[in-house]
Amino acid sequence: MSRMEIPQSVAHLIAVNDDFGVLLCRSARCRHALTVKGLGEHLRKSHLETLAVRREAKESAQALARQDARFQRDHRGVELPIDGSAPQPTLPVADGFRCLFCHFLTVSRVKVRMHANKEHSKKGEEDDSVYARLKLQSWFGWKRERYWVVRDATNGLGEAANGQGEATKQLGEATRGLGEATIGLDEATSGPGEATNRLGEATNELDGIKEDVQRWRDEAAERRLTLLATSLVFELDSWLNYTKWHAVLSKSRYDMLQTYKFLRFPGPEESQLRHLLRAWDLIKARALDTLEDSDHKDALKWWVSPKNEVASQHPFELPQSSRTLDKYSRMWEQFICYMVRTVPADSDKPTKTGVVYTSEQRQAIEDIQDSLDNDGTNKGLPALANELMQLCRQVITQDLSVAKLYDSPLMHYLAVRGIDENAEGFRGPMDYTNILAGVLWMLRLLALELAIPSRPWPELGIPGKGELGKGKLASVGETIKTFRLAHLVEGSFSPA
Ligand SMILES: [Zn+2]
Ligand SMILES: [Zn+2]
Repeated sequence: MSRMEIPQSVAHLIAVNDDFGVLLCRSARCRHALTVKGLGEHLRKSHLETLAVRREAKESAQALARQDARFQRDHRGVELPIDGSAPQPTLPVADGFRCLFCHFLTVSRVKVRMHANKEHSKKGEEDDSVYARLKLQSWFGWKRERYWVVRDATNGLGEAANGQGEATKQLGEATRGLGEATIGLDEATSGPGEATNRLGEATNELDGIKEDVQRWRDEAAERRLTLLATSLVFELDSWLNYTKWHAVLSKSRYDMLQTYKFLRFPGPEESQLRHLLRAWDLIKARALDTLEDSDHKDALKWWVSPKNEVASQHPFELPQSSRTLDKYSRMWEQFICYMVRTVPADSDKPTKTGVVYTSEQRQAIEDIQDSLDNDGTNKGLPALANELMQLCRQVITQDLSVAKLYDSPLMHYLAVRGIDENAEGFRGPMDYTNILAGVLWMLRLLALELAIPSRPWPELGIPGKGELGKGKLASVGETIKTFRLAHLVEGSFSPA
């Protein structure tokens, strides 16, 4: 069978798995298989691709299916790789469970437990004697999952079942040791500045959900390096006195590490949150358009200045590298996840992590959850993006003069971001700066989108920039000024 190429113009969207005869969506939010039949609709609904792009993708997929009948199968017909094989590219690898008494596989601990209780009468027995933890993949998502066991890349032995957790742990230890050794070496040779750069670069290079683990390790190494290089055994006490993080986090019902887990990136099992982040992609794309479209350089100098009377030297603009932009975006994505995960089901109850939501914020999150529960694909991403933008607006424009600083979900999130997962303590001022810079940048980008969007947000009652200055609406410059004074300057919202 001949290898068929996907045309250059759509190759960034679709991947072909030639071994199994499967088409895959490449988007970081999807990374799952597509049928030839469903491809066009998927690109339209989930990625808002243009007709021309969709047509090209569809035609090449159909050509592929004509040539190779395997590509004609639907999600039930696709062959699964054998258990214990190497992970298939493009697809995410999920943490999963296997029933020890049959071949039942799932990514849900609750489900494997229910299955064993019911099918094998194992109620009350220890978890360890009922299921094994392993790594799983599935070609399709969204309730069409059929899993197989993949070799755990972290131990490389293909040991699918027991002893795996142990091996992973050991590897973690080894990696940490290695990290330390690397630092020592780099210091000895090229000096710490150089090493920081390279570690920083390595950190940036990594992408995708799975690599996040590695990223945390690298960042931890970078942190340690910074500390060594500057010999800054800093005054954590006065820092904490200043930030009051310990007081904020003492209100959480969980310990620090558990609280921190509320920020994690959604795994393959959290398909709803992953779907929501697609809506975030839309918002981000629109906001970046707006920024590119903003020719009011002088006004944008004010946008970055937290001072009431002094404009910044530089206007608000894109970060230097797209990788930095990705990093910033991920910080906001985690904030979105944090909000959706922590809002209590019962609106009278306080949240488990101590974050406080206004009734408007709560309403916005509930709307989002409703859409996701009713299968977010039906309503379409733009509707979900509206709801998510509404939530962002409720956060950004929250009036903190009537609330305590940490009653802002964003400020609370920033406090939780102060936790250093690896060191099991708080971050110091040095390595917190990046986080603050990233979150602030996204905040300003979104604020710009709320104030002078290139395209209007009719559902939110926000006029587009083109409408400003007409009729009763204030001009672009005035709108920028008003919004900034209300929400972005010292003494209003900005924690800068
Ligand atoms: Zn997709
Ligand atoms: Zn079973």
